[in-house]
Amino acid sequence: MARVAEHAAALDVERIRADFPILRREVHGRPLVYLNSAATTQKPRQVIQALVEFYEQHNANAHRGVDTLGEEATALFEGARAKLAAFVGAPDPACIVFNRGTTESINLVAHAYGRKVLKEGDEVLLTQMEHHSNMIPWLLLAQATGATVRHLPIREDGTLELDALGSFLTHRTKIFSVTGMSNVLGTIPPLRRLADAAHAAGAVLVVDGAQLVPHLPVDVVDLDVDFLTVSGHKMLGPTASGGLYGRRELLEQMDPFMGGGEMIREVYWDRATWADVPWKFEAGTMNIAQEVGLAAAIDYLGALGMENVRAHEERITAYAMERLLDAGARIFGPTDPSVRSGAISFWFKDIHPHDLATVLDQEGVAIRAGHHCAQPLMRVLGVPATARASFYIYNTPDEVDALIDALRVAERLFRTA
Ligand code: PMP
Repeated sequence: MARVAEHAAALDVERIRADFPILRREVHGRPLVYLNSAATTQKPRQVIQALVEFYEQHNANAHRGVDTLGEEATALFEGARAKLAAFVGAPDPACIVFNRGTTESINLVAHAYGRKVLKEGDEVLLTQMEHHSNMIPWLLLAQATGATVRHLPIREDGTLELDALGSFLTHRTKIFSVTGMSNVLGTIPPLRRLADAAHAAGAVLVVDGAQLVPHLPVDVVDLDVDFLTVSGHKMLGPTASGGLYGRRELLEQMDPFMGGGEMIREVYWDRATWADVPWKFEAGTMNIAQEVGLAAAIDYLGALGMENVRAHEERITAYAMERLLDAGARIFGPTDPSVRSGAISFWFKDIHPHDLATVLDQEGVAIRAGHHCAQPLMRVLGVPATARASFYIYNTPDEVDALIDALRVAERLFRTA
């Protein structure tokens, strides 16, 4: 890890890239240009090695035995919890519930908190730029409780219509759940302001941190959020790593989400009592190796410094937006790189995004095309889909150039088609 720290300040991208074995491969005979980190990031060898080492040296079930391996696995798993807590500024590792990431975390809050507090006539407030995973759990909850789901509109520029907040966030709102960073528009909402407004209305603020946590320094105490989700696979960690930060008093009041082994204290034929938080929410054998891998990812990002990660992304986003606009692309979302992320959705020369992504893939350039799990937002934007290039610590300006070159290939192809 010291090696990373040495070049952290400058974010020496060439040296970072050397840590990512997959970035050395070719696709269709071209060097891979991976511009799809908003879907999932690539993994450095330090994370891959942590998984290998866990399985080769320490593999056992956590919290199950007093044997040496069992104790090592438990210590590594709980150590990962402390690392994730520190990474998001949580005051106590007990505020971190491990699970597969954002989707599972929002379902957990909807079931274990939402079902407890919502009744008919109550409201859950979302925004128009939410991912389906911050919509469907609330729709299911509304169906079960008789509550209503509302959506704060967005403005033309892809930012939230904050002037309307007062009419959407009322005494009926019990839960306000918002993305910390839009996976389509790149928008970063003013979370502290939203938390203050939610609390003044008597609601809790849930933040979908899937895109936020990997890209910016985050402190749950400063932001005063009640729940924050973390998707480990979008921040160099293994798939199915991550979890949920919850304010401790809330986690303690909540019912369990899933029942099974290890989430109990005492079980009788007809009743049971629950383990302390966070284990009350961790039924069955957990994603132990994945969370241990996430701890290595957090070490890696921590050594780089999240301010440096953000600064690098802002620079590359500025360059990519400039080149995309020059090339004739229409960009969705805020145009100022300092208030948005490096997930850039665009529409290019009336070429359907799926066709575009297919041609780009032939050129070695991986982007995402589709509705990005945000179908209602696509309707607001008036397009069936968008193309999306998204950037992370290992992307270079040369790769932006490769994207533009590949777009020109697509343009020529479709002009003559
Ligand atoms: N919310 C947003 C904003 C996302 O970008 C994603 C991932 N595409 C999710 C939620 C779902 O996260 P996960 O894959 O961890 O369930």
